[in-house]
Amino acid sequence: MLAPCRRLVRLWPVLVSALLVSAFFLQRGYAPETSTQDSDRDDWVAVRLSKDQKEYIDRRGVHVVVGHYMGETSRPGQPPNLTNEQLNANMFDPQPHEGKNGQAVVLPGHELPRMQELYYINRFNLLASDRIPLNRSLPDVRKKRCQGKYANIAGLPTASVIIVFHNEAWSTLLRTVHSVINRSPPSLLKEIILVDDFSSRVFLKEPLDRHVAGLPVPTRILRASRRIGLIKARLLGAEEAEGDVLTFLDAHCECTKGWLESLLHRIAQDRTKVVCPVIDIISDDTFAYVRSFELHWGAFNWELHFRWYTLGAGEIKLRKKDITEPFRTPTMAGGLFAIDKKFFYELGAYDDQMEIWGGENLELSFRVWQCGGSVEIVPCSHVGHLFRKSSPYTFPGGVGQVLYSNLARVALVWMDEWKEFYFKFNPEAAAVRDKQAVRSRKMLREKLQCKSFEWYLDNVWPQHFMPKDDRFFGMIRSRLTRRCLMKPAGKGSLNQPMGSATLGECDAGLGLRQMFVMTPEGHVMTDESVCLDAPDADPGARQPKVRILACGGQERQKWLYKKEEGALEQVSSGLCLDLPNTDAPEGSLVLSACTGFASQQWVLDAVPWK
Ligand code: UDP
Ligand code: MN
Repeated sequence: MLAPCRRLVRLWPVLVSALLVSAFFLQRGYAPETSTQDSDRDDWVAVRLSKDQKEYIDRRGVHVVVGHYMGETSRPGQPPNLTNEQLNANMFDPQPHEGKNGQAVVLPGHELPRMQELYYINRFNLLASDRIPLNRSLPDVRKKRCQGKYANIAGLPTASVIIVFHNEAWSTLLRTVHSVINRSPPSLLKEIILVDDFSSRVFLKEPLDRHVAGLPVPTRILRASRRIGLIKARLLGAEEAEGDVLTFLDAHCECTKGWLESLLHRIAQDRTKVVCPVIDIISDDTFAYVRSFELHWGAFNWELHFRWYTLGAGEIKLRKKDITEPFRTPTMAGGLFAIDKKFFYELGAYDDQMEIWGGENLELSFRVWQCGGSVEIVPCSHVGHLFRKSSPYTFPGGVGQVLYSNLARVALVWMDEWKEFYFKFNPEAAAVRDKQAVRSRKMLREKLQCKSFEWYLDNVWPQHFMPKDDRFFGMIRSRLTRRCLMKPAGKGSLNQPMGSATLGECDAGLGLRQMFVMTPEGHVMTDESVCLDAPDADPGARQPKVRILACGGQERQKWLYKKEEGALEQVSSGLCLDLPNTDAPEGSLVLSACTGFASQQWVLDAVPWK
């Protein structure tokens, strides 16, 4: 069981020699990677996700690329001309067995044109969604150990589930609602609050009111009178909530058995914990429910985009005692989490000057950690989320303006000196920096006596790859060729396998691809948590190739810079970073016996970052 979708155009195994690679990258809108459906094995480790394909490396080192069957990238060009009638039609047409137990929907070939046309409306396969009943069954994807763990629900706080939506499809919105009702203990589910962020679809008006009136759980719909965005819409819902715990979900989720008890249990133990379920994947193509890898935690990159990373081998070992116990995460993905209602307000709720979408997950994560709480992932709570490759709705004011303004606010209020780093390398955010009024949020930080961002980096995310005063930040230049070490782009090619460490013309204008940090422990890291790496000494190969691969804290990723000679020595092998033994510009750097020759001389060119 490997593919998240059944209909594949390409599926080819490629052997790779590397061991497991542990980081992978995604936008908030992309899915964390999946594992096998067998809930007691976490065999699949994703290494990278791009817009149109997914790559996996399994435990045996087989590298698999899964292409997407359809979606925007395979249909470039004009969007279809959808009529108002099409947009406002509710084509929900459930077939009793379709999608049952989380299975994929397979549509007959002649439906293809219609499917592609309708895909555009929500950026997911609406035709497939509309064939799945609202109460479809899902597998119990939890580890066995979870099953009895939260059986005693006496004394747990109650939850208000808050779902905000803007022009969501009927079937996905209501499958979210029905999955909450079907899989939450009634005594813990105080109410469901739907917040309509000024949708225009007619089926989301009276028909929705009527449907909701017949539900067995008190369900209210609040309606914004103008487009306010997800942050303010959630605030609207939170204010009305009567439960003890606010539980936020996106409008295209499906909850599995036990999802709520395990979250509430953790908050009952400590009300300053903000807890997230493991986010499984509902395929945007087939609506298959795909269990995701449980050991991911969230952080961000140099652009302040949310990223998933995987627990390192050492950390996994620590957790082996009980891998079903909640674990800390530096940031949350944002769509799905639970928080004690009083704690939410004590902490300053959300920044109500953030617009539409984005950045609020980092803002809340920083605030929770820096101001005395913590953010955790609860492995026994699994909720599916429909990940899309692009956003279906308009961003009034423009996507860039909205997102960068939100992120500028995060940086200005919470990141201390690191805001200068962010603005320096993110000109779009720098351009809107001065427009932000953040006085009240800074006063909040003052009032709550929150800790510094440095404290956050040191204590909450010690594996981070941000610059710091105690480490080098800048370019690594060959003294001989005057060219600079480059972070590999993309997937690599035949001459340049994935992760090759190569040189390029030094150009500060290239920005972040030539910037590296070197920590006092000797890790040479760059954006997205990738590190200068070389395979452990192989007696057969005299000049091992040097790579830039996911940081994992391994010995072989430790380097020693000898300033006098300019040598960069791999600590584990005692070999030195050397120029490629070919003239080809794309040649990969190698390790060779340290000679002190010019080809082994490197200059660390510091670049000011604040
Ligand atoms: N949303 C909203 N108003 C907006 C943008 C988004 O109410 O202006 C809702 C949206 O319907 C969804 C949630 O906010 O329920 C999160 O948005 P989305 O799913 O697009 O974000 P993603 O999951 O891609 O991060
Ligand atoms: Mn979503």
